[in-house]
Amino acid sequence: MLANAPLPSYLAAADISPWTSYLAILDRVTPYLGDLARWVETLRRPKRILTVDVPIMRLDGRVSHFEGFRVQHNTSRGPAKGGIRFHPDVTLAEVMALSAWMTIKNAVVDLPYGGGKGGIRVDPKTLSPQELERLTRRYTAEIAAMIGPEKDIPAPDVNTNAQVMAWMLDTYAQSVGHSALGVVTGKPLGLGGLPGRVEATGQGIFLVTKRALQRMGRKLQGCRIAIQGFGNVGGTAALFFHKAGARVVAVQEIAGALVNEAGINPDDLRLHLAANGRFDDFSGACLIDGTDFWSVPADVLVPAAIEGQITHENAECIRAELIVEGANGPTTPEADAVLRDRGVTIIPDVLANSGGVIASYFEWLQYFNAFLWSKQEAKSRLAGVLLPAFDEVWSLARDQRIDLRTAAYLIACRRVLEARALRGLFP
Ligand code: NAD
Repeated sequence: MLANAPLPSYLAAADISPWTSYLAILDRVTPYLGDLARWVETLRRPKRILTVDVPIMRLDGRVSHFEGFRVQHNTSRGPAKGGIRFHPDVTLAEVMALSAWMTIKNAVVDLPYGGGKGGIRVDPKTLSPQELERLTRRYTAEIAAMIGPEKDIPAPDVNTNAQVMAWMLDTYAQSVGHSALGVVTGKPLGLGGLPGRVEATGQGIFLVTKRALQRMGRKLQGCRIAIQGFGNVGGTAALFFHKAGARVVAVQEIAGALVNEAGINPDDLRLHLAANGRFDDFSGACLIDGTDFWSVPADVLVPAAIEGQITHENAECIRAELIVEGANGPTTPEADAVLRDRGVTIIPDVLANSGGVIASYFEWLQYFNAFLWSKQEAKSRLAGVLLPAFDEVWSLARDQRIDLRTAAYLIACRRVLEARALRGLFP
């Protein structure tokens, strides 16, 4: 039906990776879709794209302009849902890929959402707090027509946090004339946030790692874990692993990698970073070159920084038998093929890091029910959504003899395309 439609010009652009990485996985899954394959083109183009100019007055009186984006990849199963990223490398292609991954992620854990993502091409470190607030508010005003509690619900992503969500919420509320607490998730607790939301992605990484190791006949206790990125996801996951008796043997950051065969104490590393802001002079581990991180002997590798980090080159050096993708899109398609050939088990991003959006869903429910959840309830319900989804993906992969990424995409694509087919086309 849609298969031979010409590509929109923005999709025909030459260099649109990581969007092309996403399409490569769709290609892998399409042969398994049966009749639903006639709708697959829906997933190969975002539903709605908004690019905005975001001008702000700097504190010294200059006016600076920034590029902003919001993409709704798909809304067949519910409102678009996905974070807002502030980063100097943000591009439309990146935001498109991130929004598509949200469609898949929300469907694989069976949340009633579509997928969306937004971002501003900016290095927030170059802005004062007042300038950051101006940027956030102007961006929100520019995308206000597109978002809303039942339309599209942003959340934090790289370099955005609960304070940024509070500014977004307040700006949106001005435009609609009521408090509109459901328009974003990842809010501060005092504004309807969910207890445990900040730790949820790291907690999810921990839960799926433990489950996968069980399935592989291994114990988490004593397991050697290597983590790239010691931010919200990687740092929190490290704390969970450490508490459960695993050994965090390596942590890579932009400044290099810290290694300690006996285990790095992530609490100490956090305190050290908070006290002096420097990663490289931590006394609880040895600093090695960042590129050597990939070959450190470890049982589990958790890439939790940014996309495209596990490449064709470093995939050959990786010694872990399990990779748990904390970041979105950390493995290039070429590296994915190398690792699959070598029999490395990869828990894909769309499943592994879904703890954050599951907690966001609970926060959204809090808003609609006007009833606040306890941290304990949020934590145990997270496991109640994530682990059955993990089991379903694991079983499908085993039964069909496919890798976990293909299985996760297959489950998700079926759900989205069934919804698409049920809706039919208008007119
Ligand atoms: P963050 O900014 O808190 O942490 C990222 C960390 O990675 C930072 O400490 C940064 O210095 C480090 N880093 C960046 N580039 C690096 C590089 N090239 N090498 C080594 N370290 C590098 O961000 P986060 O919230 O932890 O998100 C990390 C990843 O997880 C992103 O891909 C994000 O989209 C994804 N993710 C986050 C959440 C969430 O709830 N925060 C949920 C799902 C997915």
